[in-house]
Amino acid sequence: MITFNVPPFTGKEMDYIRQAVENQKICGDGEFTKKCNKWMEERTGTAKCLLTTSCTHATELTALLANIGDGDEVIMPSYTFVSTADAFVLRGAKAVFVDIRPDTMNIDENLIEDAVTEKTKAIAVVHYAGVGCEMDKIMEIAKRHGLYVIEDAAQGIMASYKGKALGAIGDFGCYSFHETKNYSMGEGGALLIQDGKFIEDAEIFREKGTDRSKYYRGQVDKYRWLNYGSSYLPSDMNAAYLYAQLEMADEINENRLARWNRYWERLFGLAEAGKIALPSIPEGCTHNAHMFYIKAKDLEEREALRKFLGENEIHAVFHYVPLHSAPAGIKFGRFHGEDRYTTKESDRLLRLPMFYKLKEEEVDYITGKVKEFYGA
Ligand SMILES: *Cc1c(COP(=O)(O)O)cnc(C)c1O
Repeated sequence: MITFNVPPFTGKEMDYIRQAVENQKICGDGEFTKKCNKWMEERTGTAKCLLTTSCTHATELTALLANIGDGDEVIMPSYTFVSTADAFVLRGAKAVFVDIRPDTMNIDENLIEDAVTEKTKAIAVVHYAGVGCEMDKIMEIAKRHGLYVIEDAAQGIMASYKGKALGAIGDFGCYSFHETKNYSMGEGGALLIQDGKFIEDAEIFREKGTDRSKYYRGQVDKYRWLNYGSSYLPSDMNAAYLYAQLEMADEINENRLARWNRYWERLFGLAEAGKIALPSIPEGCTHNAHMFYIKAKDLEEREALRKFLGENEIHAVFHYVPLHSAPAGIKFGRFHGEDRYTTKESDRLLRLPMFYKLKEEEVDYITGKVKEFYGA
């Protein structure tokens, strides 16, 4: 069976975890956490990066920093993971869903402005498959209306838009290091902060509402409870696992991109013949091969293809059920405008196996079976 995902593993993880244990500081903000934060700051050019327990938690931190509360509205795509909405809904906000572009599956930047109301506080964009949203336009709309831009860059680490790292363009960015992502620590994430004025508050919210971060740096002689907050620090053992992969980030990225390109080359003929659609990477976007998906004609064909691949020992999977059609989406959100593409395109989409160290022969076998299904 070719599984859909194999969590990334470079071989150095166990050494680093042992080191973390031997350091006798396995709680949060130890040596490896600091190394990960520094690596991300250098790579993305962000003022501050803070490792968190998940991308969901990083997004919750952005809701706290943007002071989003009861009755506020946050504009986002419906075609996303639940966390994008959860983080704001948890603060009492309403999720306002806008349709996506069929070429990238990202929020349609041309539909955002019409969804802005007096209650809108933020635009939460999702860089689907590590392909950047049209950020110039989105930043311009946000500026004109005084809105925060929060990037759900869970899938976007090592990818960029017009030379800027995804997650480092809006006010706040959120990465995920879940085992299904390009770099992993099992469960984990990071918050990226562009403007230094938010750093102190972010540290306080992340440390149970206290100034313990300052205390550890020797800036105060005792730490105090200053605000509400929660516990968003991952253990340094998890950070040690992640750091082994960040050190090899370029190699992992190149390995994934090579497989992605091989998928593309081998399926291009089917796309040209109009049998399937392939993902498109707009000019100015550099992606990170987080995902390789194809689109069938419709739901029925997609499911038949998925079944056929399964019978041939290939684990291919569909993706998000649009949030606006889910029970919590109906309760906590509303769709603004027409759902032209969100439901239709998600029905067509099928993700093929993609992970670090996926073999070339496996890509050839998978693409061969896809072609066989289409009689090509
Ligand atoms: C994986 C993912 C998340 C959630 O990440 P966690 O680290 O598991 O909280 C959120 N948004 C998107 C778009 C994702 O792909």
